Amino acid sequence: MLEGKENITLLDSPRKIVITTHHKPDGDALGSSLGLSQWLRAAGHTVSVVVSSDFPTFLDWMPGRDEVIIFPDQPDLVYNLFAEAEIIFCLDYSALSRTNILEPVIRGANGQKWMIDHHLDPEDFADLSYWDSQAAATAQLVYRFIVEELDGKDKLNADMATCLYTGIMTDTGSFRFKAANAAVHRIIADLIEIGVRNWEIHQQVYNSSTENRLKFLGYCLLNCLEVIPEYNTAIFALSKDDLKQFAITTGDTEGLVNYALSIKGVRLAGLFVDRTELIKLSLRSIGEIPCNEICKTHFNGGGHLNASGGSSTEDLLTVVERFKSILPQYAEVLTN
Ligand code: 5GP
Ligand code: MN
Repeated sequence: MLEGKENITLLDSPRKIVITTHHKPDGDALGSSLGLSQWLRAAGHTVSVVVSSDFPTFLDWMPGRDEVIIFPDQPDLVYNLFAEAEIIFCLDYSALSRTNILEPVIRGANGQKWMIDHHLDPEDFADLSYWDSQAAATAQLVYRFIVEELDGKDKLNADMATCLYTGIMTDTGSFRFKAANAAVHRIIADLIEIGVRNWEIHQQVYNSSTENRLKFLGYCLLNCLEVIPEYNTAIFALSKDDLKQFAITTGDTEGLVNYALSIKGVRLAGLFVDRTELIKLSLRSIGEIPCNEICKTHFNGGGHLNASGGSSTEDLLTVVERFKSILPQYAEVLTN
């Protein structure tokens, strides 16, 4: 699981480090990045967190969020940081393409690449990789990396623990998913002992909707939801106009797909969003229905067995029809 362990000694002296994560960072991407960055800084390193895009407003309270550098906002600074970086952490992704416009910058950098991640099918680009597809969240792996590989539990403070808690909480659907096992709950107990105010984090992430976002949810449930009962599948398809009408921004569609999955009997849920440049697709499933295989084979994407994403440059209707035409191939797992 840990490959390239010999490189860890690099951290024995102060280093220039850049932390990267995937495009449109979610709670785990941002939580693992900010938790690790603060720990590394406390250990004497010079650390920057660089991302390719903005992130959801429901994460805009996290300790350290002001240090996040958005590449398109400060390209010259970012090029300099990568030119000088001795270590580039790659968190919560295992394929460099997931970093979008940062991909060529990371590929071109001379520093070592250290990947910490839990996605399937890792690409072979890292000098060090701490990888476990069974892990519930990258934040869980960052915690283990700090505690078990760097012997650094004593330097973990409440801010760092808050970031890691947020990553684990969001990637496990608030500890609902199968991956939220006893080991995960033991880490959560440690994080709470370190000073996490867990009730405040839930409040910040889940009870911070705007009135507009809630009305958008109502609109989607009423107008954009389609159930395909013969395949126990339900989907939302959101057009450009739907998004425009509610001035939807990054993160506003987060969690929507779970409403489709919450219908009794539904085993596969999809969300199709027309993001103008492409159609973004999110799939969720229960049991053995392979979202990752569907996304990888048909929608240029991937992810986990029960939660995956992909995209297409076709128009919305075509993508939705193509998705429906694929369902018969999975009739066995969808209906039995
Ligand atoms: P979401 O549906 O929340 O965007 O993503 C669900 C899961 O699928 C996440 O673990 C994410 O990493 C993965 N994922 C989302 N979009 C893509 C994509 O375009 N390509 C790949 N390989 N994985 C994706
Ligand atoms: Mn993750």
